[in-house]
Amino acid sequence: MLKDSKTKLYVNGKWQEGNSYYDLKSPYSGEIIARVPLATPEEVEEALASADRGKEVIKKMTSLERAKILEKASHIFEQRLEECAEILTQENAKPIKAAKGEILRTIETYRFAAEEAKRIHGETIPMDAAVSGRGWFAYTRREPLGVIAAITPFNFPFNLVAHKLGPAIAAGNSVVLKPANQTPLSALLTAEIFEEAGLPPGVLNVVTGRGSVIGDVLVRDTRVKMVTFTGSLEVGLSINAKAGLKKVTLELGSNSGLIVDSTYDLDSVVSRCIEGSFAYAGQVCISIQRIYVQQDLYEEFVSKFVERTKKLVMGDPREENTDVSAMIHMDEATRIEKWVEEAMNSNAEILSGGKREGALFEPTIITKGSSELSVNSKEAFAPIVTINPYNEWDEAIEMVNDSSYGLQAGVFTNSMDKAFDATDRIEVGGVMVNDIPSFRVDQMPYGGVKNSGMGKEGIKYSVEEMTNLKMVGFKVN
Ligand code: NAD
Repeated sequence: MLKDSKTKLYVNGKWQEGNSYYDLKSPYSGEIIARVPLATPEEVEEALASADRGKEVIKKMTSLERAKILEKASHIFEQRLEECAEILTQENAKPIKAAKGEILRTIETYRFAAEEAKRIHGETIPMDAAVSGRGWFAYTRREPLGVIAAITPFNFPFNLVAHKLGPAIAAGNSVVLKPANQTPLSALLTAEIFEEAGLPPGVLNVVTGRGSVIGDVLVRDTRVKMVTFTGSLEVGLSINAKAGLKKVTLELGSNSGLIVDSTYDLDSVVSRCIEGSFAYAGQVCISIQRIYVQQDLYEEFVSKFVERTKKLVMGDPREENTDVSAMIHMDEATRIEKWVEEAMNSNAEILSGGKREGALFEPTIITKGSSELSVNSKEAFAPIVTINPYNEWDEAIEMVNDSSYGLQAGVFTNSMDKAFDATDRIEVGGVMVNDIPSFRVDQMPYGGVKNSGMGKEGIKYSVEEMTNLKMVGFKVN
């Protein structure tokens, strides 16, 4: 069991016992790490009432006061980096070096939010551009929405909470946070850090437990003015169907495609691709799932890719040299095992990996499979990548676009014409030229098209989503 970590509900600035608990287990060792409350609908109701009061409290705070709390929280994360990384590694089996990387990003995300809190503003409107607008002075202002329900996934439990909480506080909203049931400790530690940073009671409330039991209470409540959700397509669709007229942003999955057209440095391209395909066992929404390589480069690319993938170290996420550890649950690993079987039963070829041991799944490379195979057409969210050659540029663009998802894509090319063509024609929320689709910094606009979701994150863009643009007009003369 983890010592000193708070495993209670955080409501109205108080740590309260739950009515019932569940055992949180390490995905890697199966050990019980903590006992965590399974919030009931009544407890969620209390959290909503608390957030409804909290919204009035934060509304009265100045932007400087909000910025200082975010800055202080960022600073506390910096001081408690090792502890945060350890909790993260324990609860979601992220290898410790990647866990530290996530905390460094979290520190930066809250710092961006602190900066953004100070520059939320409207603009003056040139009313007299319209025939009937003469004599008017008008401007817009951005107002907080009120109560925001934030529902988050297991894979980046500190930084994706930061992407909701940071801009919500910056914009002056209160929050009820429901973290993934696999990763409650990171959310509770975040609440502890904000309490220490001086966030008033009621502004942040954390309810742990099962989305299927308490999700509806949050999503349907009319006091909630926005649901900001990051997670799977299936849950995102159900939330959107139930949310009524409240604002909804959905950050969903993908099966990201990458084109390797030409490069002066194939070695570094291969290194980036391995990182993008297998980091955190592929459980990253912008993990590379499909790579299309120009025929002339294909053999060399594949041979280097396979050779280096075989050197990845699998094992205990607490070890500094571990590259790939357990998937979040054995069920996820067995799902992928079936997908690999399906590929093997077709005409596909496995170039490396393909085996499972408990929840550990080998980094797996597949080629020659049809685009209908699960490994190509669905979101794998696993350490698995398909690599296929192409001859014509248009063919590569079509293959990348042959997906129901559209989060991010990558293109390696020495041709400016192709680079611009790719940014024009690939149907995604973001295109990375000369890097992998998995590249993200936390202030950039981020969010998908097609089944990858709706709405944008990236602190400034989340603040826009989390505020209401009010129009104010004065008839002056
Ligand atoms: P998930 O959809 O299973 O769960 C996400 C959250 O929704 C959890 O907190 C869960 O408890 C909650 N939930 C479950 N059922 C609910 C319901 N009926 N009502 C309300 N909430 C409910 O996703 P996951 O397995 O935690 O995460 C993996 C998914 O998240 C992948 O599809 C991945 O691509 C996606 N993801 C997207 C982004 C992005 O920014 N686009 C980032 C990370 C992960």
